[in-house]
Amino acid sequence: MIEIQARLTELQELGLYRRTRLVSGPQGPNVVLDGRPVLLLCSNNYLGLADNTRVQEAAADAALRWGAGAGASRLVSGTMTVHRRLEKRLAAFKGTEAALLFGSGYLANLGVVGALARAGEVVFSDELNHASIIDGCRLSRAETFVYGHNDVEHLAWGLSQAGGRGALIVTESVFSMDGDVAPLEEIVELARLHDVRVAVDEAHATGCLGPGGRGAVAEAGLEGEVDVIVGTLGKALGSYGAFVACDHELAALFTNTARSLIFSTAPPPPAVAGALAALELLEEQPRRVERLHANATVLRSELAREGFDVSGSSTQIIPLIVGEAATALRVCEAALERGVFAQAIRPPTVPDGTSRLRLAVMATHTKDELREAARVLGRAALQAGFRPATAMPVAFAQEAAHVAAAPRAFFDAEADASAARTAFFDAEASDAVAADAADAVSRAA
Ligand code: PMP
Repeated sequence: MIEIQARLTELQELGLYRRTRLVSGPQGPNVVLDGRPVLLLCSNNYLGLADNTRVQEAAADAALRWGAGAGASRLVSGTMTVHRRLEKRLAAFKGTEAALLFGSGYLANLGVVGALARAGEVVFSDELNHASIIDGCRLSRAETFVYGHNDVEHLAWGLSQAGGRGALIVTESVFSMDGDVAPLEEIVELARLHDVRVAVDEAHATGCLGPGGRGAVAEAGLEGEVDVIVGTLGKALGSYGAFVACDHELAALFTNTARSLIFSTAPPPPAVAGALAALELLEEQPRRVERLHANATVLRSELAREGFDVSGSSTQIIPLIVGEAATALRVCEAALERGVFAQAIRPPTVPDGTSRLRLAVMATHTKDELREAARVLGRAALQAGFRPATAMPVAFAQEAAHVAAAPRAFFDAEADASAARTAFFDAEASDAVAADAADAVSRAA
């Protein structure tokens, strides 16, 4: 049995202890955090739609019209007019035949990977993929080949070794903790060559990249070339929930086999209506996306002037990699004292030795706020004993993580346990989860 206090003390000693901070009021560019006014630089409310009046009113109206909750899972009685309306709108937005709403991005990734890969098959997953993709791989019971971050050569090698058992390549398009973009064109090409499917998680690209914010897949001119796109409603679309965009056949497969869709309550009508209003606003006001890009460019160049290496990011997500967890915490606290909130991100969210402040720009920040924030972060870093000019360059940090995490062989239990990002993977736990899942299927059947 876990010794709870001992485990908490251990986390504290490692600089990995977490607590929630309290934000009063909506997720705007300026908030009151634990009673203190700060500039918010770590919210995924990229387009400022979570606190937009039209979105707020749409959610409030939906609560009055359809109720606060959906009352049941999608397949029982939880699919309501508002869900269908948003699905149609999202399919048109993403240029796919169908879209299917899930309760969250976490649930969508679990469902998609689980539905598209089975025991005996292989999933190819970027080493920096989000925890929900990693967990989807585990639950699928397929073998997982973790390829080096954005390393198409390594991916090609893995595919060539799969002996026809390859089922799926899964990658984020904009990486959540690094702000770089996957080489989607090469990935799609490899998938075609080896006859495997491709799923792209556009959680941080939807509303942020591509023409009209349609995402990185659209930006790369790959609409219609990717089997499954996962998008979230909780980031640029200012609400909560997620969707999967695909063709009718795959939508039917997910409806019938994606366990996280089948066994979870449908998203609440206010959240769905809020996302619908946000999508309408995004389509009416593409300048929000342009403003986001302009703001990200300003923050990147101001941070570079402070000596930070921001070369790894080409998007609204800008990591300041400082290395040790304790240092990241110190920089975060020093910035907070000066009125800027940029959360420290530590393992296991990011690989060991690459703790960072993950900055997230919003379209609603002013350029002056961002300039001042860069100054504050520069001073905070120095106060915390971290000299930005000596920062580990982003490319180096990624390479270091890659070497630690990705042996050039299929994952086995040992390699798995040593992998930086997948440290919480463990073959036994994964088997236990899969066994529970199998039990649930037979109970449901
Ligand atoms: N995918 C990625 C890349 C993410 O960053 C996140 C959330 N941070 C998710 C999926 C999960 O989405 P949600 O918050 O809607 O569960």
